[in-house]
Amino acid sequence: MEPTKKLLPELSVIVPVYNEEPQNLDLVITRLEQVLSPLLVFYEVVFVDDGSQTRSNEKLRELATKFDYVRLVVLSRNFGELAAICAGLDHAQGSATVNMDSDLQDPPEMIPTMLQYWRDGYDVVFTRQATRKESAFRQFLAFVYYRLLGRYSSVKIPVDAGEFRLLSRRAVNAICAAPEKTKFLRGLVPFVGFKQIVIPFDRYGRTVGESSYTVDKLIKLAVEGLVSFNMQPLYFIPILGVILVLSGLAGLIIFSVYPALIFGFQVTLAMFIVLTTGLQISVTGILAVYLVEVLKEVRGRPTYIVAEKIGWHDNIISKPSPDEVRKVVKSSAHL
Ligand code: UDP
Ligand code: MG
Repeated sequence: MEPTKKLLPELSVIVPVYNEEPQNLDLVITRLEQVLSPLLVFYEVVFVDDGSQTRSNEKLRELATKFDYVRLVVLSRNFGELAAICAGLDHAQGSATVNMDSDLQDPPEMIPTMLQYWRDGYDVVFTRQATRKESAFRQFLAFVYYRLLGRYSSVKIPVDAGEFRLLSRRAVNAICAAPEKTKFLRGLVPFVGFKQIVIPFDRYGRTVGESSYTVDKLIKLAVEGLVSFNMQPLYFIPILGVILVLSGLAGLIIFSVYPALIFGFQVTLAMFIVLTTGLQISVTGILAVYLVEVLKEVRGRPTYIVAEKIGWHDNIISKPSPDEVRKVVKSSAHL
């Protein structure tokens, strides 16, 4: 019997989903179809359900059964957006992947331009949020954070570039092969190198539903980002230590030469002790923040755990001819 042919998609669109409004998920499919069908791109949509507790899980199951090219990876609980994207990257089969939000804040209409850059030889196409439609407070936080991150990281992290980006197969393979468990993609993607470009786009506001990023999730992400690609606070600790030792020595010498000063400086001395104790605690705090990240890595717990996979067809094994792509695109458009 002739072996069945596997049709590997050219593009995998990865969409992490956590408690998303079902109508947004329908819209993701419709908008992608509108944009990609005319291009005759053979694509798959990889939804990763990051432990949703709402109707989004039902909706995703429905989409994965209804559309041939929709695949679903269900995680065993909520692991966070980055872990969900990593699950998508690990499972995607395309020669290129594009990651986008499930709420259509990242416009699928940008994908043809991203694909064009990829065809021109770029491995990474970042998108920079030229405008954002969010509250003034979030915009301000994002502005400060991206600049801090860009200024102090050991790799060049593009300013205002979020998770909406295209990666070539070799970039995906390099990222998936990195052994770290907490993959801070905004740093890891520039780290893997290859040919990279940043293109601007206008980020839309959410039409329905709320952002799933609560303040504590945002702080956690910010700290992880600053710690994973920035060792400078650790180098700052010994420098601070040397400065304090030298000032202590200078004080001792001054007081032994002019003992009369000791009395006059008692209050100052007390303040100095308070100051140094505060500094010591802060420094221990910095170490603790790094220690948490080290512990996470040393424990080596999995980044995510898969509970279920739907829509992964094993009977597909090689690249399609243009005619086959046309057929697949056409049949999916009529489903
Ligand atoms: N998301 C996820 N797990 C989470 C939080 C968010 O998979 O724990 C997904 C979410 O469904 C969306 C993307 O990550 O596709 C970005 O989340 P959201 O739109 O809520 O954040 P914002 O765009 O406001 O930063
Ligand atoms: Mg969003």
